[in-house]
Amino acid sequence: MILPIVAYGDPVLKKEAEEIDKDYPSLSKLIEDMFETMYNASGVGLAAPQIGRSIRLFIVDGSPFADDDEDEPDPMAAGMGGFKKVFINPIITEEKGDEWGFNEGCLSIPKIREEVYRQKTIFISYFDENWNYYEESFDGYKARIIQHEYDHIEGILFTDHLSVLKRKLLSKKLSNISKGEIIVDYKMKFPVIKKGR
Ligand SMILES: [Zn+2]
Repeated sequence: MILPIVAYGDPVLKKEAEEIDKDYPSLSKLIEDMFETMYNASGVGLAAPQIGRSIRLFIVDGSPFADDDEDEPDPMAAGMGGFKKVFINPIITEEKGDEWGFNEGCLSIPKIREEVYRQKTIFISYFDENWNYYEESFDGYKARIIQHEYDHIEGILFTDHLSVLKRKLLSKKLSNISKGEIIVDYKMKFPVIKKGR
């Protein structure tokens, strides 16, 4: 089932999400719906707050970043082909390496892309959809997608990483998104705008 994606301006996107346990109702159905929702919107990651649930869960599928250029392989794209994962109650324990810029987008902030700087390598612990526990490191685009989604469960958006000036330049576009004044080819839920007075 395709779920509506919560748009910029909804308070759920600014909230630190809660951990879940094995008793969380209909978790596998939720994960399945999140994948369907993400693929329908051509995303490479989706965090639970983006579908209105303030829980520490996100999914990724980096296949669209798979590198098919054999002559000049992109080192940041190594192994992206089979990079499909579920992260439950993740904790980024360390980030290291030089910061590098990448033009990020977000399904909750359609049609805006901006350069965001993040460190290259992360160490993360998490449970998968079967509650197997992992401690792993990721780098390049894998780390990038995880860092972006992890931010979501911390209540942080990629626009929060931009300079004050850049955010000011985007403010009109962002307020249009929260009012639903944007054409998007997937289902979205826009924050309710309270009428004045
Ligand atoms: Zn996002």
